[in-house]
Amino acid sequence: MVRVRLAPSPTGYLHIGSARTALFNWLYARRYKGKLLLRIEDTDRVRSEERFLNEIITDLKWLGIDWEGEPIYQSKRFDVYRDAAEGLIKQGRAYREGEAYIFKVEKARVIEVDDMIHGKVVFNTNEIKDQVMIKSDGSPTYNFSCVIDDAHLLITHIIRGDDHLSNTPKQILFYEALGLEAPQFGHMPLIMGMDGAKLSKRHGGVSVEEYRREGFLPEALVNYLLLLGWSPGSDREIIPIEEAEKVFDINNMKGVQAKFDIAKLRWMNGEYIAAKPDKELLPLIKKQMSDAAGICRIPDDKLLEVVKLYKVRMKTLSEFVRMTDHFFTDDYSMEEKAAQKYLTSAESKNILHEFSARLEKLRDFSHSAIEETCRLMAEEKKLKAANVIHPTRVAISGKAAGAGLFEMMEVLGKSKVLERMRKAAA
Ligand code: GLU
Repeated sequence: MVRVRLAPSPTGYLHIGSARTALFNWLYARRYKGKLLLRIEDTDRVRSEERFLNEIITDLKWLGIDWEGEPIYQSKRFDVYRDAAEGLIKQGRAYREGEAYIFKVEKARVIEVDDMIHGKVVFNTNEIKDQVMIKSDGSPTYNFSCVIDDAHLLITHIIRGDDHLSNTPKQILFYEALGLEAPQFGHMPLIMGMDGAKLSKRHGGVSVEEYRREGFLPEALVNYLLLLGWSPGSDREIIPIEEAEKVFDINNMKGVQAKFDIAKLRWMNGEYIAAKPDKELLPLIKKQMSDAAGICRIPDDKLLEVVKLYKVRMKTLSEFVRMTDHFFTDDYSMEEKAAQKYLTSAESKNILHEFSARLEKLRDFSHSAIEETCRLMAEEKKLKAANVIHPTRVAISGKAAGAGLFEMMEVLGKSKVLERMRKAAA
């Protein structure tokens, strides 16, 4: 049976690359009906922090990644590592240097790794120094505790980032010395920025938590990360995880470096938002609104109307807050350039004056009635509809773009619309 694992170190937030690794391990377990286990690599007592651990677990769950049973903590297994190191000393495979335990690396040996993603990768032990197993402070090194625990957990496949490829021959030496069978390895190329440099903040953010806060949907981030290392064998891009689970094949994993394209992720997120039922978006939007303002007092039915208008327009949930402030406060932001262009001339002011006077007479303030009033006025005054629409839009929303003007006016309601138009016309 397939047994894979996640092995995060709680010394920082969940990196977008680790999230992708986690996702592929999860997918691998699902696809082959195996198990995914969680091991916390908290051997560095100084740098490991509870808040990071909590954040990592929150982020994994948010992405929909679940695992089998309780996590194991390396910090609770120092005795196990020391016993194993002692055993190697007794066999003459290791030596002590003060408090430290060091493994003797036999020279001039060729170690072959048959990598699931890269194929055959060859190392020579001449390049490998004797390996510390237990440091003088009593904590194990990553390579040593990793091998002991992967064997203990009966891991069959290790899928991780390319940054660990050079550790693999060292780990293989430990498997051999301890008389353990090595699992299969698969190393995924790292995620790079569009400019080919190591992924960093300027490429759009490196931790999952930043994307969560920004209002990305987990299903969109998952879909995007999936395509950063794998392709379904066609050029389809929107592939929900439920579908990927059925068709995932490790042989279709790409051995080339993936480039993180924030514009594409934003596009994909927009697609997922547009396709999400309004009722499911509502609580997520409310969360964004209250994160931004401290509290969200807007009644659900009102918010829902605005969500319906904007769900096809926002790329992230946090954008909603900025795009729609004019529905919820009179103190909405005003785009300087748009105001300059559409609200300052005498002609614009006359148009706003005339249009508001006509709208005032409407009993039914529906978008179709508003639209008809607008078209009729344009015809009678020999104007283009755009000459009426642009100043009106800027007057009532402060923005040059947004949802359809007439729908927006209907949702805002007659009195707000007239109030704002008159103010702009004055
Ligand atoms: N704690 C290591 C990391 O987060 C685990 C590497 C591995 O999967 O072996 O990079």
